[in-house]
Amino acid sequence: MSSSFGSPSRTRAGVGGATTGGGSGGGGGGGESSTSPLSPSTLPSSPGGGASPPPPHPLYLQTDQIYSCLQCHAHLAKNDDIISKGFQGRHGRAYLFKQVYNITLGPKEDRVLMTGLHSVADIACTICKSTVGWIYIYAFEESQKYKEGKFIVEKAKIVKESPWIRNTL
Ligand SMILES: [Zn+2]
Repeated sequence: MSSSFGSPSRTRAGVGGATTGGGSGGGGGGGESSTSPLSPSTLPSSPGGGASPPPPHPLYLQTDQIYSCLQCHAHLAKNDDIISKGFQGRHGRAYLFKQVYNITLGPKEDRVLMTGLHSVADIACTICKSTVGWIYIYAFEESQKYKEGKFIVEKAKIVKESPWIRNTL
């Protein structure tokens, strides 16, 4: 009883239901085309691709104005990361940065600064090992908490460079 073939309702995209009833069996002599579609999908990786960007070098900061190590000119900090320029270092004026780069932390120690007792660690240039400042790890004074995790860099230890704005104008 279950001889109901599923009639494939192929949607003929013809305007109007013109049933082509030409039932004369055409003698199609064409055998089964034995061209198995083994298309070798060699995807041509376009050789003329765009300029492959070099991996970002950790030593170079991509910004307009940077501060470099006075000794070896390794990039240490960005001008944008300066929080304050009104700090006092061991060698005079110092800047407070929220982030510095290419530095190595020294041992943590408690140090009494002008603004009270702090836990700090010296920071040294990774390249030439010269000490350039320190990081505030912990501030005991409540009013100094904002400096925790920030970096003091001695102005005398760095030099300002403007790699993209060099002698323009
Ligand atoms: Zn250096």
